[in-house]
Amino acid sequence: ALTAGIVGLPNVGKSTLFNAITKAGAESANYPFCTIDPNVGIVEVPDERLVKLTELVSPKKTIPTAFEFTDIAGIVKGASKGEGLGNKFLSHIREVDAICQVVRCFDDENITHVSGKVDPIDDIEVINLELILADLESVDKRLARVAKLAKQKDKEAAAEHDVLVIVKEALESDKPARSIEFTEEQQKIVKQLHLLTAKPMLYVANVSEEEIADPSGNEHVQKVRDYASGEGSEVIVISAKVEEEIAELDDDEKAMFLEELGISQSGLDQLIKAAYSLLGLATYFTAGVQEVRAWTFRQGMKAPQCAGIIHTDFERGFIRAETVSYDDLVSNGSMNAAKEAGKVRLEGKEYVMKDGDVVHFRFNV
Ligand code: GDP
Repeated sequence: ALTAGIVGLPNVGKSTLFNAITKAGAESANYPFCTIDPNVGIVEVPDERLVKLTELVSPKKTIPTAFEFTDIAGIVKGASKGEGLGNKFLSHIREVDAICQVVRCFDDENITHVSGKVDPIDDIEVINLELILADLESVDKRLARVAKLAKQKDKEAAAEHDVLVIVKEALESDKPARSIEFTEEQQKIVKQLHLLTAKPMLYVANVSEEEIADPSGNEHVQKVRDYASGEGSEVIVISAKVEEEIAELDDDEKAMFLEELGISQSGLDQLIKAAYSLLGLATYFTAGVQEVRAWTFRQGMKAPQCAGIIHTDFERGFIRAETVSYDDLVSNGSMNAAKEAGKVRLEGKEYVMKDGDVVHFRFNV
């Protein structure tokens, strides 16, 4: 399963956030394919469309789709030098598909900061530098191997060589690989290099409870935003402490609490949605009277592959996908009405599924 890793220096609020994630935790019985690991938190993906579909269909149960966060502790300066913990930290990052970097933007004299003062850009650079150094090492190794072949007019090697040189140049001026604009061909090569700095990054600015309603006055946050936009990354602002408190409340209490704080959506919900789209994920729905359910797929996946997410038999025996867009279904009021209006399509093997498709798969057993 795809997962986003949570990283950050000590005392920035990582564990607090991860606690919020596990407390908000999804009913794991619904998600047998998810990883069971103390460092993995499974969350349900909030989706207003699922609420609406439930109203429309009145099923026996409704099941949201789920998503995994992995807690990656243990970043230390010098991690890329490959000693003990540091090495482990980097290998954990290698396994995740996106990185959520928690950055301390709250001032609190009682909580020590590892480098003595709250300076988010400094903090970000400590972590990002370790990732850059680790990538530089792999790029250099690869370059040594490819350079010879490239000279012998091996076309593939030459293309890889070009990419490696571009990446090396960027890394040497402290720029992550994700900030480089590659052609589609080059992107394929980059993917195979499994670079740490090529992974999408989301900065999670952790502010105090007092500031969460209006973080615009927090200059740390502004600095993080400027830094992130420089490399084309996104920022979300949360208060990890608030999230930990909210995580245990039921829906009504949560809504009240958020209103009191003056925020419309919990930071955790924002984080889940941002990480989800960062990973290039999308949602389709199945809507029967037994069960209305949301399913996660990767953007670009075709109908049979998507059917295979529910069950491998669905993919193997795939015939057609009876499909209606969420909007068409809702505006027509029912599946039958949507059919009469000609909004339900029969899609075949080559159909690329879209976010919000409501589907009934037909298959041979
Ligand atoms: P980690 O080392 O990054 O996992 O940091 P922790 O989550 O353990 O947090 C370190 C300390 O900061 C703990 O005492 C938290 O209660 C506190 N903390 C975390 N988030 C906030 C926050 O938003 N505001 C304040 N004032 N303290 C926080």
